[in-house]
Amino acid sequence: MSTLEIRDLHVDVAQTDPDADPIHILKGVDLTVKSGETHALMGPNGSGKSTLSYAIAGHPKYVVTQGSITLDGENVLEMSVDERARAGLFLAMQYPVEVPGVSMSNFLRTAATAVRGEAPKLRHWVKETKTAMTELDIDPAFAERSVNEGFSGGEKKRHEILQLGLLKPKFAILDETDSGLDVDALRVVSEGVNRYKERENGGILLITHYTRILRYIHPDFVHVFVAGRVVESGGPELADELEENGYERFTKATAQA
Ligand code: ADP
Ligand code: MG
Ligand code: MG
Repeated sequence: MSTLEIRDLHVDVAQTDPDADPIHILKGVDLTVKSGETHALMGPNGSGKSTLSYAIAGHPKYVVTQGSITLDGENVLEMSVDERARAGLFLAMQYPVEVPGVSMSNFLRTAATAVRGEAPKLRHWVKETKTAMTELDIDPAFAERSVNEGFSGGEKKRHEILQLGLLKPKFAILDETDSGLDVDALRVVSEGVNRYKERENGGILLITHYTRILRYIHPDFVHVFVAGRVVESGGPELADELEENGYERFTKATAQA
């Protein structure tokens, strides 16, 4: 059993202009995710959801000014990006870049080597990736393509979930995994997330703007995220309320506060 704990997290984003003051975006985020739990973090555009995932990932532009992130008591904020991955954190946005000339199969083996601390045996690895790709309806030719080069939105998302299945992290932070997916792709990707949850008893932080994906991935907890913090937490029924009424009740309350 593992615990990812975020306490009173404040984050500034450095602006492109070095003379401009950083923008204060996260304003005291509290969130605890344990193994086997699925948490949906839902909020309007611009509320800071991606900023939270970048901060957990250790993106250098996102500066933590207050608060803590710990994984089983270990200080995540002191870890490099690689150390976070080795400690068992998976950020679906970690590798969104195109890497020409590096095939998917090489890329995935390198990532697995980094996380596991030793290179997976080649024959075993080939089998493992084939099985994982079949489960996600991924064409075998995909393995030979360059990382993310010319991938459609749906292919990128499948690739993220493929990594999730192969890297077997303790916690998966999935930021807008549902965006740009048609219904079939959404189902395949969701099944991949659910398999990860069952097989690894992983903890999931599912960040999303829309309730649609929650028909396929059932959260144990739902958090409403507005203006840089969690403003309400509840069970799945909270998502139903958001589906019906949107974020207005929460954004209004925040504006008045
Ligand atoms: P969400 O994912 O909830 O839509 P974001 O975390 O992407 O929200 O953004 C929160 C706020 O921070 C927005 O107002 C956005 O414009 C701002 N922001 C995020 N990243 C940067 C950045 N790198 N430079 C400047 N502003 C940023
Ligand atoms: Mg947001
Ligand atoms: Mg976002």
